[in-house]
Amino acid sequence: MNFEEIKQRLAPCGLHCGKCFAFTKGDIRKNSQKLKIDLGEFDVYAERFVNILNEPVFKNYPKFKEMLSYFSEAQCSGCRNEQCKIFKDCKVRGCSETKGVDFCFECNEFPCNNTGFDEHLHARSVTINKTMLEVGVDNYYHKIKDEPRY
Ligand code: SF4
Ligand code: SF4
Repeated sequence: MNFEEIKQRLAPCGLHCGKCFAFTKGDIRKNSQKLKIDLGEFDVYAERFVNILNEPVFKNYPKFKEMLSYFSEAQCSGCRNEQCKIFKDCKVRGCSETKGVDFCFECNEFPCNNTGFDEHLHARSVTINKTMLEVGVDNYYHKIKDEPRY
């Protein structure tokens, strides 16, 4: 994966859009779609399995399917292409464009208090950016690319 492709998955704040549930090209959407196909017409069987297996958990299948459908239909093209659907107060993307940097660690104001993030997310972004500065974006991405974001 080249640098431009990595940037499509790593936001300027360092968060990994690639593992976000909302990312159209993300693993959560892709795996949810596959699981949905693999489950086929499981609804009918879920009802039967409540009694056949004496497992009340199968009663929850409709709720599970609802969530699976939601994940399967994720529609975000990533931070660099549209407004983040989760962190609506994020100022980083617009700011990074104004500053002309790909990531916050490249900015002369880093670490700043202008992210619009809450304390937790701000700290996470600073940590990620410090790591990218230390090891390089490419190395950082290849280290975390398969790790869950949540
Ligand atoms: S921009 Fe926000 S909502 Fe969209 S994939 Fe990235 S983190 Fe998720
Ligand atoms: S000012 Fe802050 S939010 Fe903006 S690019 Fe620099 S470090 Fe990132």
